[in-house]
Amino acid sequence: MNIAQTDAPEIAPQSTDPLDHLADKLFHKMGTDGVYARTALYEDVVERLAALISRHREPGTEIMRFPPVMNRGQLEKSGYLKSFPNLLGCVCGLHGTEREIHSAVSRFDAGGDWTTSLSPADLVLSPAACYPVYPIAAARGPLPKGGLRFDVAADCFRAEPSRHLDRLQSFRMREYVCIGSPEDVSGFRERWMLRAQEIAHGLGLSFKVDYASDPFFGRVGQMKAVSQKQQLLKFELLVPLRSEEHPTACMSFNYHRDHFGTTWSMADANGEPAHTGCVAFGIDRLAVAMFHTHGTETAKWPANVRELLGFGCTTTELAG
Ligand code: 5GP
Ligand code: ZN
Repeated sequence: MNIAQTDAPEIAPQSTDPLDHLADKLFHKMGTDGVYARTALYEDVVERLAALISRHREPGTEIMRFPPVMNRGQLEKSGYLKSFPNLLGCVCGLHGTEREIHSAVSRFDAGGDWTTSLSPADLVLSPAACYPVYPIAAARGPLPKGGLRFDVAADCFRAEPSRHLDRLQSFRMREYVCIGSPEDVSGFRERWMLRAQEIAHGLGLSFKVDYASDPFFGRVGQMKAVSQKQQLLKFELLVPLRSEEHPTACMSFNYHRDHFGTTWSMADANGEPAHTGCVAFGIDRLAVAMFHTHGTETAKWPANVRELLGFGCTTTELAG
């Protein structure tokens, strides 16, 4: 074999993804694609975006913040395994006896595989922020007239490793959720689709809103996706980060019909199965979109955008 091929490039050509130039300014690598430590510059914008979204909270909305894990049974009951089993992360642990645990660790110390001794805990990594709110609301009994509104957030996980900075495995999601009659939910979604576009416009982002489908798993999933589109159950606010043809969803507006109402036996004020909907803000995608659009020097961002994000006040003042 001829090993003296001097014309072969020494280093593989670097990826030319349009977001790659942001990586050094916004993130530190942590050894896995799609899981990054965040710089102060990035986190400051994340907090300002979160504060901006809070300022648009509708009156009478109850705030809840969720941990990054949730009860496995609740997510199973929500039907997640029927739709996105490939994306789910499940917490595992060494649940054996002391002897079994020692033996797993010894196997690792001897260069072997300790993970064969793992078994699932009753926790999964939350794949979206709103799943835990439905059983909590259901436990309160019948819904009041006008329904209920929640402001929720969680660190979410989806097992889809990618080198692209707008597809993380671990990312922050903020959501406003409405639980009520079909009219309560459709009114809520219409209001938020307009309000969200005002927010995106104020942030100086180019975007379009289009109907969309979730990435349902498998061949049956493809049929679910078609039906979801036909019924206009999901819209997305899309920002052209990588290309105009394949823009990135930074927010989504979802109508679940009576799926969660039936699952959790929730009735609206008329005694009918409750309908639910949510507007989800992908906080990390929005932050990446801001740096992609306006550059990595926030001091040079347009004056109106800086004002909207409260540059000039601290994030503690913003939160207040
Ligand atoms: P959905 O439940 O509609 O898929 O996700 C809600 C929002 O979360 C999306 O509009 C998007 O902004 C954000 N999101 C979904 N997947 C990812 C991802 O892989 N990476 C990041 N950074 N955000 C995501
Ligand atoms: Zn949701």
